This record gives sequence, C-alpha cells and structure tokens, in this order.
Amino acid sequence: TRIPLIAGNWKMNLDHLQAIATVQKLAWTLRDKGHPFSEVEVAVFPPFTDLRSVQTLVGADSLDVRYGGQDLSEHDGGAYTGEISGQFLAKLDCHYVIVGHSERREYHHEDDGVVARKTAAALKHGVTPVVCVGETAADLEEHGASAVPVGQLKAVLDAVDAASDIVVAYEPVWAIGSGQAATPEQAQQVCQALRATLAEAWGDEAAARTRILYGGSVKSSNIAGFMAQKDVDGALVGGASLDPEEFAAIARFRN
Ligand code: 13P
Repeated sequence: TRIPLIAGNWKMNLDHLQAIATVQKLAWTLRDKGHPFSEVEVAVFPPFTDLRSVQTLVGADSLDVRYGGQDLSEHDGGAYTGEISGQFLAKLDCHYVIVGHSERREYHHEDDGVVARKTAAALKHGVTPVVCVGETAADLEEHGASAVPVGQLKAVLDAVDAASDIVVAYEPVWAIGSGQAATPEQAQQVCQALRATLAEAWGDEAAARTRILYGGSVKSSNIAGFMAQKDVDGALVGGASLDPEEFAAIARFRN
C-alpha cells in the first residue's frame, strides 16, 4: 500500500533556467512512456532560487512531477538572515522538504535537536518532511550500520506527533557521491530497523504507512535491487537526478 517515491536531490546544482529545462525534459520523458505517477511518485528538490520557476512550469503544464525544498528554517519568520521559512515553501506548493541531510548535519552543524525542530516546522506548515538519517564510515566501523540512523530517527519521532505524515530517507554517508552504494541487503537491514523504530515510537499503523527511502549512489542500473527489498519504498537520488533521462529511467524501475 506504500506508494514508491523516487526523489531527486539536486543539491547546489542547476540554476532556475536549467531547472525549467530539466523538469520539462523529465516530465515529457515520463509522459511519453506513459508513466503511472499515481503508482510511482516522482519528486525533485531544486535549489530555493529555482522553486518559483518550477512551480510556474508545473502549474502551466499540469505536470505530475512534485517538488520541494532542500532545507527550511526551524523558525516561522523574523530576523534570521538567509533563512527560508516553511511558510514560503508551502506558498510555492512544495509538497516536500528535505530535513537533516548529512551535508547539512556536517557542514552546517545541524544536530538531532535542530533536525527535530525543522521536522516540526515543516509539518506545522503542511509540507511533508523527508527526514534523512545515516551513519558515517567511522560510525559503521564503531557501532554497526543501524545504531546511528536509528538514534537519529528516534530523536525526531520523540519530538513530533505520532500521527504525522513524514518520509524517512536512509542515506549511509559513505555511500553518498562515492559510487559505492550499499548493497540491497544492507539497505534492507537498516530500513527494517528504521521501520521497527517507527513501530516502537508511533505504533504499527504508522510504521506500515510511512515510506522509507534509500539514498547513496543510486542509478538506473542498481535501483531495481533496492526496490525489490521489503522495507525500501523508494530512493533519494543525488548525482543521477541531474540527468533527466537517467532520473526518468530510475523512476521507471519496474520496466
Ligand atoms: P548521490 O546519489 O549523488 O550519491 O547522493 C545521494 C544523496 O545525498 C541524495 O540526497
């Protein structure tokens, strides 16, 4: 019953003109192939400065591709220079927002508390948070694969309402941008642990309904292996999402 979500995190790539070309190409490629968007959801996460253009394009052409921001402020508004409120994302019809990406955790020192507050802020403004968790290579060596991501997820689950609509993304830091994806079995093992964590904190119904994505060096050639896993409900794709034909091929993992 969980509808797979194929999500493309563009990171700091593609300006608003390139965004228009990329989303058009993606949407047309998928349309040409008769992609059933209600059966496999497709979303892109462009830089903030692209979002208004993407909204206009998606609205004008009634595209089925969804989109969201890569981050948001924990605050609603005010004297926070450079920050973006969840209210602004909601106004741009953002369906989702990424929260707690490992690059935010590492380069912007976002800890579990910040990530929990940002998750709450997204929910407050009606934008579905895609909460990212994952272990570094050092964590993996020291604690095994599941301990760190499970702890990161717990911190969020304890801070927001159990009825909340969230997406979880498991992204092992060592697999991001490295070309060294986790194996489907490794991904399944951690995603299963994350679902058990959801069940423990929020109950079985929430655990059964919440989507858990895998991210880290996903491409069209390895997506099928991940999607065959019981607890993997989609992918959060970085580099391979910048090429609309490659990203469309990932979304078409069933073909
Ligand atoms: P890559 O697909 O480039 O490894 O990036 C994954 C990622 O960080 C998506 O959020």
